[in-house]
Order: sequence, then structure tokens, then C-alpha cells
Amino acid sequence: MPQITRRKAANVDIGGVVVGSAAPVVVQSMTNTDTADIESTVQQIAALARAGSEMVRITVNNDDAAQAVPAIVAALAQKGWKTPIIGDFHYNGHLLLRKFPECARALAKYRINPGNVSIGRKDDDNFRTMIEVAVEHQKPVRIGVNWGSLDQALLTRMMSDNAQLPQPREARDVMMEAMVVSALDNAAAAERYGLRRNQIILSAKVSGVRDLIDVYTELARRCDYALHLGLTEAGMGMKGVVASTAGLAPLLLAGIGDTIRVSLTPTPGGDRSEEVRCGQQILQSLGIRSFMPQVTSCPGCGRTTSTYFQELAERIQSYLVESMPEWKKMYPGVEELKLAVMGCIVNGPGESKHANIGISLPGTFEEPKAPVYVDGKLFVTLKGDRIVEEFQVILDEYVEKRYGRIAVEV
Ligand code: SF4
Repeated sequence: MPQITRRKAANVDIGGVVVGSAAPVVVQSMTNTDTADIESTVQQIAALARAGSEMVRITVNNDDAAQAVPAIVAALAQKGWKTPIIGDFHYNGHLLLRKFPECARALAKYRINPGNVSIGRKDDDNFRTMIEVAVEHQKPVRIGVNWGSLDQALLTRMMSDNAQLPQPREARDVMMEAMVVSALDNAAAAERYGLRRNQIILSAKVSGVRDLIDVYTELARRCDYALHLGLTEAGMGMKGVVASTAGLAPLLLAGIGDTIRVSLTPTPGGDRSEEVRCGQQILQSLGIRSFMPQVTSCPGCGRTTSTYFQELAERIQSYLVESMPEWKKMYPGVEELKLAVMGCIVNGPGESKHANIGISLPGTFEEPKAPVYVDGKLFVTLKGDRIVEEFQVILDEYVEKRYGRIAVEV
């Protein structure tokens, strides 16, 4: 697969995880627990980290939350999780970071929203205070502009300047420009107040796919700060997944983006880790990073009148998800494994041969047998009602032989 040339950006160390330029694009996520509820927050962070989140952001919105932060970080460390924890601050971050130095120390990075840090003020003292705390504790900062909370004074001024032009620009274009200006101006201010370039990450999140592509393309063109990408308020289920993919993919393919988050709205009681798996899948589908063995399966058609192959594909997928935490430790490189589960002989053997292991199930009216291909060659033909179990054994043996610490030729 052709290599993607990543945009040059200052490398930022976030609690031991380096992002920017040639460093891998990092997947991050955010909790939705009450941060003051230490147990629930620790549990959710551990679940997100287990799913592969390489950084986790938590809201720090009041005294109780700020006081809970050191205990959360300590509890995670005790459980063996070193995942950097990022504090998300709005409105009162300047107060909380000064009042609770232990919180400031425990966090790996602060996220500052320049649109609401100094509301109603004529100066930027609140922003400056947060940056000074970051400098004091040598913590990186993400200056995260969001169009839902864009600096209204800046936007009003830019809109009014635009209105004076002989040929005013579209309001949407002024809004996009205001987001870029807000991010860059605040980054420049942060540097004036003592942060280094390699301690600053920028983001400019919007909820429209084309807006996202435009605003980040412009931001990338005008600076070399590391960038965090994400479609804000992506939405629920398929809409959120598709919109996030559509927004992030062109940017990532253009080498833009050093960390990503997929902001899915979970279903009530749903699994928060879905956003992590979605972010990983975007990167893996684009050939940028590998996280999980990939299963290629056909959609099925009139040639497969039973649901047998759908069930097999689902069982194999679930088996991979369950096995991966252990496999990752035991079998380095297993995330590159490719499987094919195909519904009939039309594309089955061909697709199976392109995978490490492929199975082509019998379609309707086909002979009830399932050829299994290993590394492009016919390995065995399975028959009977234990095809799934037997296929799973072949898979386990392949993984052990190919990716076991003392790997042997398969
Ligand atoms: S591989 Fe066979 S079952 Fe699957 S979509 Fe193609 S023709 Fe249909």
C-alpha cells in the first residue's frame, strides 16, 4: 500500500505518549461518567484503555472533580494502566488548576477551550493563568476550538469587518476563518506565556463533514503544531460512524492529524468503547495503523439463502475481539492477520486466497463442503456440522505458529 506522507508537526510528549509527524496517529476517547465518582470513572477509563484508547480525557468541571483526579490516576496506576489522562476544562479551569495543584500535577495534558475561558472579560488573564500552570508543571495543552462555543467577541468582530468589505465573504467562510484564527492566536499567546511549540496541540472541531475538512486543511497549511482531529457531536450509530469516517479519512490520507477521536453518542447503557474501536477501524481501513485482525466477508446474496455464513462471520469476529487482549501480549504482529469468510464459490476461493486464512462456505445447491485456504493454498476442505469449531482450531494453530514468540514457517 502506498505510504502516506504525514504533515510535519512538532512532536508533543503527552505523559509518555509521543504524537506528531512520524509518530503513530493516536486514538483517544473521553469518559461520560461523573469524574467525582472515582470508581465509575476508573472503571470506564480502564475499559476504554482495554479497548485500545491510548489517551483518555475526563471532564474537570468543579471542585469535586478536580479533587478526584489524583485518586483516579493513582487507582489506574495501581491496576497497571499508565494511559495518559487529559483534563477537559471549560469556564473555570483557571480557578481549579490553581486551587488543586495535585490535580494539575496528575493530569498529562490540559484541554483549554479558548471560546469559554475568558467569557465577558476584556483581557485573557484566565487563559494566561491556565498556561502558566501548564508551564509550571511542564504539561502540554490542547487549545481546542469548537464551533459550538467559538469566541463570540472574535466572531462578531470578524463578521463586522467582513460586512465592510466591497465583496463580503460568505458567513460560513468567515466562521471557518474565525476558528482558525482563534486556534492560532491562542497558540501564539500560549507561546508568549512560556509554553514551547512542542507542548501545544490544536483542534478546531465542527459537526459538518465538509466544514471539518476545510477548517483542518487551512489550519494544517498555516501552522506546524500537532493537530487533534475529530468531528464534534458526530451523532449516534451509523450516522456518527459514517460522518466521522467521511470527515477524517480525507484529512488522514492527506497526512493531516496526529491524534483522533470519534465522538459517537452512545445508546443508553451502550458501550462507550465503541468510539475507540471506530477510531481504530478508520485508521486500519486506511492502512495507517493495524489494531485488529481484519475479517473480509461478503454481503451474501440469493446464492446464500441460509444465515449460516453470516453467523460464522459474526462468531469469528467476536472470537477475534475476545482473543485480542491476550493475543496482543503473546503474538506480536497478530493485528496484521487477514481472514476471509465468504458465502459461496463465486468470489469465495479468490478472496480467501488473498487472506492469511479464508473459508468459502457452500452456497445454496452447492456441495456441502467448505474449502479453507491458508496463505493462498488450499489447506483442507471442511464438511459436516462442526465447520465453525474446526475453522477456529485452524485459526488458533495458525496464530500460534505464525506469531508465536518462536515463530516457525507455516
Ligand atoms: S461470494 Fe457468493 S454469496 Fe457472497 S456475495 Fe458473492 S456471489 Fe453472493
